[in-house]
Amino acid sequence: MSAVAQRIEAPEVEQELTDGFHLVIDALKLNGIETIYGVPGIPITDLGRMAQAEGIRVISFRHEQNAGNAAAIAGFLTKKPGVCLTVSAPGFLNGLTALANATTNCFPMILISGSSEREIVDLQQGDYEEMDQLAIAKPLCKAAFRVLHAADIGIGVARAIRAAVSGRPGGVYLDLPAKLFSQVMDAAAGEKSLVKVIDPAPEQIPSPAAVDRAVALLKGAKRPLIVLGKGAAYAQADDAIRALVEKSGIPFLPMSMAKGLLPDTHPQSAGAARSTALKDSDVVVLLGARLNWLLSHGKGKTWGEPGSKQFIQVDIEPKEMDSNVEIAAPLVGDIGSVVNALLERIDAGWQAPPSDWVESIRSKKEANIAKMAPKLLKNSSPMDFHSALGSLKKVIAERPDAILVNEGANTLDLARGIIDMYQPRKRLDVGTWGVMGIGMGFAVAAAVETGKPVLAVEGDSAFGFSGMEVETICRYELPVTIVIFNNNGIYRGLDTDPTGRDPGTTVFVKGARYDKMMEAFGGVGVNVTTPDELYKAVSAAMDSGKPTLINAEIDPAAGSESGNIGSLNPQSVVVRKK
Ligand code: ADP
Ligand code: MG
Repeated sequence: MSAVAQRIEAPEVEQELTDGFHLVIDALKLNGIETIYGVPGIPITDLGRMAQAEGIRVISFRHEQNAGNAAAIAGFLTKKPGVCLTVSAPGFLNGLTALANATTNCFPMILISGSSEREIVDLQQGDYEEMDQLAIAKPLCKAAFRVLHAADIGIGVARAIRAAVSGRPGGVYLDLPAKLFSQVMDAAAGEKSLVKVIDPAPEQIPSPAAVDRAVALLKGAKRPLIVLGKGAAYAQADDAIRALVEKSGIPFLPMSMAKGLLPDTHPQSAGAARSTALKDSDVVVLLGARLNWLLSHGKGKTWGEPGSKQFIQVDIEPKEMDSNVEIAAPLVGDIGSVVNALLERIDAGWQAPPSDWVESIRSKKEANIAKMAPKLLKNSSPMDFHSALGSLKKVIAERPDAILVNEGANTLDLARGIIDMYQPRKRLDVGTWGVMGIGMGFAVAAAVETGKPVLAVEGDSAFGFSGMEVETICRYELPVTIVIFNNNGIYRGLDTDPTGRDPGTTVFVKGARYDKMMEAFGGVGVNVTTPDELYKAVSAAMDSGKPTLINAEIDPAAGSESGNIGSLNPQSVVVRKK
């Protein structure tokens, strides 16, 4: 560890000193933090430089929101908190969106922001970038801490790490005022003040009674279903989860980011029979999935007749139980421990689910897959979403270890259903909020953290939120291939201004060539108009590992308003009299 910051030759004493900069870096390194995502500036410019010099990988972005999204998804992929480093007020605020999104999605992340001087901020005397950042961060994250003394840096970093990864993971804010960095202290005392977090995310074993209750319910089920959520993907209990599904014989339905936990082509997958599985099931095991809007709150038409359903919910967060409907068998614990406890009970006496249930899902699934197949094979020009995604489905089938990043409206909804995933934690997308703008941040972190090829499938609108990071991708020479589904606008590219004055509110420049953006930074740009061209361009890009952006021309008339969630978009029925 680098303890010595500087050597001061004083007349009587020769003392080894350290300072705030070095202590922050040493505390992160001691706790296994290998990468920082951020944007340099006052007061953390030197912190980034020195962290790099000390062997931490520092990835500098063009905007803090993208750096924050990168940190958040790094947390999801590694179960270690992803760290985002920003400047004060505006940089902090830019990072805050990502911190809130990480918390909402249960991704462990630490936003570290430099801040202005407490004495001036608290008296509101107008410091450089004055803002009470700690107070603003608090309601938007799991925990927020400020460190005022160099001797407390070790504790501050330790608290942030433990808060981010223990229990339900989430975002943590760590406020470091500018003055802290140059505070000097004795190096040996500084080293002693550091804290290595022991067992940061302890196992949480479910109570035997809760396991009994769940198993009894499951044994009585006629039409059981397992819903896998991104909590199950996060838990990295892949083998145990697969064993539970296969030994129990219960059909499973993956939520978006749980796709690939078991392959989408697995015989027990109910992915292509989602509606039937949700509506007709009688006992549903929620494994790291919340009954929020993405699952219609566990009620309504999606879930069939009222009273037709009983839920077993596995979650590390006790407060999640009964959030929307009654949970008949709450199983509080970490997914690895709970699944292993359940597995012990799937013994020789276990009865596979009734065959008529398994068969009804299988036949529905096959019918839906057959109905979709011809749409995916059309070699049309212009392309529509289906024909273009047919090509990308093939690309991923041939590269199951690649990571797919996906955002947009139609581009998201249709890719989720069409592109099969084969391995855990390979699909990264808009998550719980359905937020746009995660694309390039997620792509950068996926490449940095895993070293695997990354394919980012982006709506043209979605891409715009983080598009400047193509420079970052080129600068770090990351193996990222971006495909823009360019339909000239949001949802569709056909809106007009009824007054004739301006472009319609949802349209972009027609025939825009996003591929040229990539060329501007030394990456490869390709424009394609057919599914065959798309397939060839993406395959070549992913094999080359070179940063590439493929502009895929999609029929501007092909999309639908708000994709799958048009029902959430209020529409006026009032026609004004002139
Ligand atoms: P999805 O959107 O895929 O359904 P959610 O984000 O709604 O997933 O749900 C994930 C759930 O997983 C959260 O309720 C979270 O508390 C839980 N979770 C996260 N990590 C673990 C873990 N290691 N063990 C148990 N539950 C977890
Ligand atoms: Mg579009």
